[in-house]
Amino acid sequence: MLRARSVSLSFGDTPALRGADFLVDTGEIVAIMGPSGSGKSTLLHCLAGILVPDEGEIHVGGERLDTMGEAARSALRRDRFGFVFQFGQLVPELTAAENVALPLLLSGMRRAEAARRADLRMAELGLDGLGGRRSGELSGGQAQRVALARALVAEPEVIFADEPTGSLDSLTGEQVMDLLVGTAREQGTTVVLVTHDARVAAYADREVMVRDGRVTSPVGTS
Ligand code: ATP
Ligand code: MG
Repeated sequence: MLRARSVSLSFGDTPALRGADFLVDTGEIVAIMGPSGSGKSTLLHCLAGILVPDEGEIHVGGERLDTMGEAARSALRRDRFGFVFQFGQLVPELTAAENVALPLLLSGMRRAEAARRADLRMAELGLDGLGGRRSGELSGGQAQRVALARALVAEPEVIFADEPTGSLDSLTGEQVMDLLVGTAREQGTTVVLVTHDARVAAYADREVMVRDGRVTSPVGTS
């Protein structure tokens, strides 16, 4: 459902990806591992249409992401993808509930319906009663669960998670992973997960290694 073919990308003189191939099937959960600086985040950003590769192709379903214009890519990201990063990256001026409702409002949903769905999603992730807090008033684990609620609220086809537990202690990290993977399995969501942590990678169906800008382990079967 999501595929990178021979993707290369340099930042100035620094090659970050050098012919990376990657494939994830619908509903599959894949962990991308590898040394710091090997190109994991850059690969994730290319797959997600945040960065456009210098060479190679990115396919999402039947569509070519790398040849789309910025407007079409950003619409695709908004409508079909969800994102979780290492530090929740909540909008600090908004409450937790407003953060969670944001993707729905951006897709044009009415405010009351968006708020209702945000509340439901927060309840599922154990965040009852925290909707009125701003990110500065949440613990790291709570903030990350709010970020997860925001990523999941619009029921995206793919969740991209870059070190989603990187800022959390191991128990809180496990809770976040249980919720991420549990919800993804329930909804059939595809997950592309970057992590350094073998315990986090163990949640995935499959692990791939990135080294020196290439995916060095099997890229999938179909
Ligand atoms: P980490 O595990 O530390 O997060 P990573 O595998 O995610 O590392 P990337 O962030 O993809 O690595 O970086 C790959 C290479 O590209 C590195 O050499 C990095 O310094 C370089 N790089 C990444 N982003 C930029 C940028 N915005 N500008 C310049 N160089 C960059
Ligand atoms: Mg990274």
